[in-house]
Amino acid sequence: MSSNKPNLKLAAKTKLLNGGPLPTVIAGPCSAESEEQMLQTAREIRKDKRVTVFRAGIWKPRTRPGMFEGIGTVGLEWLKTVKQETGLLTAVEVANTQHVEEALKHGVDILWIGARTTVNPFSVQEVADALRGVDIPVMVKNPVNPDIQLWVGALERLNLAGITDLGLIHRGFSTPNNKPYRNHPKWETIQEIRSLVPEVPLFCDPSHIAGRRDLLQPVSQQALHLGVDGLMIETHINPAVALSDASQQVTPEGLDNLLTSLDLEPERVAVAEQLQEFRNLIDKLDNELINILFLRSDISKRIGEYKKASALDIYQAGRWVEVLQNRLKVATDTGLDETFVRAIFDAIHRHSIGIQNEVMSSAPAATSVMEK
Ligand code: PEP
Ligand code: MN
Repeated sequence: MSSNKPNLKLAAKTKLLNGGPLPTVIAGPCSAESEEQMLQTAREIRKDKRVTVFRAGIWKPRTRPGMFEGIGTVGLEWLKTVKQETGLLTAVEVANTQHVEEALKHGVDILWIGARTTVNPFSVQEVADALRGVDIPVMVKNPVNPDIQLWVGALERLNLAGITDLGLIHRGFSTPNNKPYRNHPKWETIQEIRSLVPEVPLFCDPSHIAGRRDLLQPVSQQALHLGVDGLMIETHINPAVALSDASQQVTPEGLDNLLTSLDLEPERVAVAEQLQEFRNLIDKLDNELINILFLRSDISKRIGEYKKASALDIYQAGRWVEVLQNRLKVATDTGLDETFVRAIFDAIHRHSIGIQNEVMSSAPAATSVMEK
């Protein structure tokens, strides 16, 4: 039985994120329909450098039979062509052993578990078992019902099977009143899941939350404000004729406009830039500090040579007491902590004595070295 906070063993580096300060964008059609539809969509998407992963549903879990249930394995061949031609990573939904085997055989880069599969621990376990010993990133969509434990449980099942590159996709929930959404975002869930598994990348799928194009912008923006790491947006070369989820898909041009309209994590970018500025300053100051320490030790060496030539003792107590008091005063006047300054000057002084000792004990010895 798992504790409330799961103990996941995760890979040091995830392949799910682009590694930059901007969110990772996954785009592509709800369903693979034809080779032409896939390639045309992918070629257009590819032009937008903000998108790094191409998604397509190969097997579609439909609420009622008789709707388009996915093109099946042939779609994986088209996906392979997309990858070869565009260099985009590819992602598909898997729900059983056969899906996993076919996807792996066709070199799919990323797998995801859909909302209707996450609800069922038997299915999640089947997928996890099929993935045992395989090194591939797997994303888990939230279950259709708002049950965060089921969501986390799916991560745990995959992790126990050895999957260490895990991601989450928030796609909204079926609630008594979803209006105006297709699936209610229940935004507080983002905070909840984050606190349970803070190290797992979290994506938002505004397409399945919104269910309609005009809501994609506010939903995406809200998710970004809440700090998601990426977006999955259904994109089709011609949404009007899409065989599934027609009203929520955007054209590649629509995607471009949507991404451009979004404040792509301005806070995160600003924080990264500000941090870099501080780091540059610290680097500069540290270099100056090193240079000053070098100049200081060089002078200590010359003092040693002078003391040697003049037959003076290395350690002259009066001088050091005076130096230390003076430095402490100057330093505490600036607001620096006295203990900190004392520790630094003690180290500097010990080093200086060491240098002078070395100089004075090197031949020819003009006088005996007295150390106190
Ligand atoms: C999909 O991504 O096309 C899909 C079926 O989504 P979900 O599992 O979120 O309903
Ligand atoms: Mn869909």
